[in-house]
Amino acid sequence: MTDETWGRVCNELLKTVGKNNFTSWIAPLRLIALSDGIVSFEAPTKFMRDWVSRNFAEPILRELRVAGVTADRIDIRVPELRAIPMATVANPTPVKPRKSLRVNEDAELPGAPLDARFTFDSFVVGKPNELAHAAARRVAEGGPVTFNPLFLYGGVGLGKTHLMHAIAHELQTRRPDLRVLYLSAEQFMYRFVQALRERQIMDFKEMFRSVDVLMVDDVQFIAGKDSTQEEFFHTFNALVDQGKQIVISADRAPGEIKDLEDRIKSRLQCGLVVDLHPTDYELRLGILQTKTEAYRVQYPGLVLADGVLEFLAHRITTNVRVLEGALTRLFAFASLVGREITLDLAQECLTDILRASDRKVTIEEIQRKVAEHYTIRLSDMIGPKRVRTIARPRQVAMYLAKQLTTRSLPEIGRRFGGRDHTTIMHGIRKIEELKGADRQLAEDIDLLRRLLES
Ligand code: ADP
Ligand code: MG
Repeated sequence: MTDETWGRVCNELLKTVGKNNFTSWIAPLRLIALSDGIVSFEAPTKFMRDWVSRNFAEPILRELRVAGVTADRIDIRVPELRAIPMATVANPTPVKPRKSLRVNEDAELPGAPLDARFTFDSFVVGKPNELAHAAARRVAEGGPVTFNPLFLYGGVGLGKTHLMHAIAHELQTRRPDLRVLYLSAEQFMYRFVQALRERQIMDFKEMFRSVDVLMVDDVQFIAGKDSTQEEFFHTFNALVDQGKQIVISADRAPGEIKDLEDRIKSRLQCGLVVDLHPTDYELRLGILQTKTEAYRVQYPGLVLADGVLEFLAHRITTNVRVLEGALTRLFAFASLVGREITLDLAQECLTDILRASDRKVTIEEIQRKVAEHYTIRLSDMIGPKRVRTIARPRQVAMYLAKQLTTRSLPEIGRRFGGRDHTTIMHGIRKIEELKGADRQLAEDIDLLRRLLES
């Protein structure tokens, strides 16, 4: 087959697959030969090879046949040395040749800036985060990939971003040869959309496929954003195939991210999934002590009375960010007014934060909200009826009571019309079990939790 024939075939393909597809996928192919009914091409990347084989083999063969070329299969190779994938040989179409796609290895990656304070040194390890910390440390060694991806999840302000930045910092010193890219899922989407708009999607793909370690923060953001998800999925697969490390964070477990495609969920679950648990008292105190050391340097004259840090660790249980904010304000305030930091001063200057942390959900509130949500009577919450339409909401309320309050099972039982603690336990288990498979139920619970916690 001559280049001229291939040129004619290209003209036809341009009409059948559309200009965008043609430019992205077919134009970069280089015709090598036709022999034994096999047409061979060269593609610039493995990813393109796979994509073209899967999606465009049929149309290409069809148009070849129309042009009188008998071929029953196409074969695409990827040259060992990365070629500059310009459609050079046969590009008879009016399509403008694209810019060079070669990724400049020295070019700055379009990552987000790293916070210099988020290092392993400044990360306080406690029971709730020890596993996440250990996994992050492992990745930061830059050795062979042992789990892929590392998926970190947990509530807001528990240290996900801190750990990811710490990995990046550590890799910069240990393995300066590695290309490490950290960015938020939102930035990923922004870059993707920009690349689409500026018709530089191949550059985008090449760039993302050229990194050694990819970290995407807050991946829940791309849920429901279909084309971004699709692109993310391909990037993800391409990197995993090349044995490159991926680190992902989200505010919840992969299986619980709504509107995330199932294939992505299951891909995300393939590696190591670790959660950062809510902080406990010891961890909060540890964090406060560490941060205080830094403030002592910054405000050398200030005196900190005994018991203040313990008081804060005890009272501010929401998240580390709030805890830090409280401490920052406390030191700034004390230095401004030139007073010793005492319990009184803390209470005075942190009234709002303490009050917000004070808000405790009661079992009665839970029962009322759940009853409203499922439009059943409040009295049925504690009554004896066993029909599903009442028993299920009641179990949801039991589950939430366990999750959102510090009440024991017998105490919860008493508030549900004097039920036995084993009944409560059974109810909670039932909901835990159903929640995994029943999306609607999981959503209901999520919504109720948010209502109650706000
Ligand atoms: P997330 O990304 O999970 O929402 P961040 O990583 O942004 O949370 O953490 C919020 C703040 O709390 C940051 O300033 C971070 O340094 C701090 N922080 C969280 N966990 C710890 C920890 N274990 N030790 C020290 N600081 C922490
Ligand atoms: Mg974060």
